[in-house]
Amino acid sequence: LFLSIFAGIDLGGTNIKIGLLTSEMKVLAQSSCRTESERGFDFVIGQMVAAVRALCGQNHVALASLRGVGIGCPGPLNLKEGRVIMMPNFPGWRDLPIREALHQAIGLPVVLENDANVAAYGEYRMGAGQGLKSLAMFTLGTGIGGGIVTNGQMVRGETDTAAEFGHIPMDLNGRLCGCGRRGCLEAYCGAPGLVKRFGEAVEDGRRSVLVGQGRKCEDLTAKDIFDAAAGGDALAGEIVDRTAYYLAVACDVVVNIVDPDIIVFAGGMTAAGDLLMKPLEKYARERFFPRPKVQTRLAISRLQGDAGIIGAALCAQNTFETSAS
Ligand SMILES: [Zn+2]
Repeated sequence: LFLSIFAGIDLGGTNIKIGLLTSEMKVLAQSSCRTESERGFDFVIGQMVAAVRALCGQNHVALASLRGVGIGCPGPLNLKEGRVIMMPNFPGWRDLPIREALHQAIGLPVVLENDANVAAYGEYRMGAGQGLKSLAMFTLGTGIGGGIVTNGQMVRGETDTAAEFGHIPMDLNGRLCGCGRRGCLEAYCGAPGLVKRFGEAVEDGRRSVLVGQGRKCEDLTAKDIFDAAAGGDALAGEIVDRTAYYLAVACDVVVNIVDPDIIVFAGGMTAAGDLLMKPLEKYARERFFPRPKVQTRLAISRLQGDAGIIGAALCAQNTFETSAS
């Protein structure tokens, strides 16, 4: 019996996740390490190679027997050339040949894809999208990513820029976004945007259990605000409700353009469960046209943190499996 094994890498601004997966996308082993992008491109490439090597060693898999490596990477990217154009959370990373560099360093074929597209593809094939025709996914974190899969295909667009849901405008004169434009969804519902909205309300004189006794707004995290909302804090509750409202508006935009079977949410904020999803469902269904109002599903990711490595390994399988079997 010959087992095909693929490596899936999820390159994030803070952490890198690495997995070894079978053809059936069973996770044989996984690990994670700090990205430390400030130490430079070559260092990070070396970290990824060392991590794949270590997983192979621990699991008695010869590195050379891997069929290929898939890597999901934050963008914007040039997929045809396998290059990073820039990465907002990676200081100084510009115009880098990441696919070729990883291929040279690891000695295996490598396929590069956008990180959120990869997560959406993993979710479509192995998670909440299983058995459905089309899926759109929001990844909620420091930034907000988006991915679309229809009829089994990732939608990349002609310039590899499709599904940038984090930059759907909520307000043309609104908050400044990390991308340089105003009013993007990410500026409101990315974790730092959420904390900033809370801090502004406190500056306006609103009270909350989270501030006072020496605690300052700039030390808070989005999780603190969700936890306080769950505990009944009125201001935190309003901030979470407004977050759900912005996400519902973005869902409406996605439905009007893509009209998928299901819209899936992944990332740390979805740990809040119904606290986020109940108002999101309510606001979204108030906005949707009649058929999506009853038909379009909204759900939390089933794969969560594993969507990236599973999707990346699937991309490697799609690209390299047939070549040697
Ligand atoms: Zn933006």
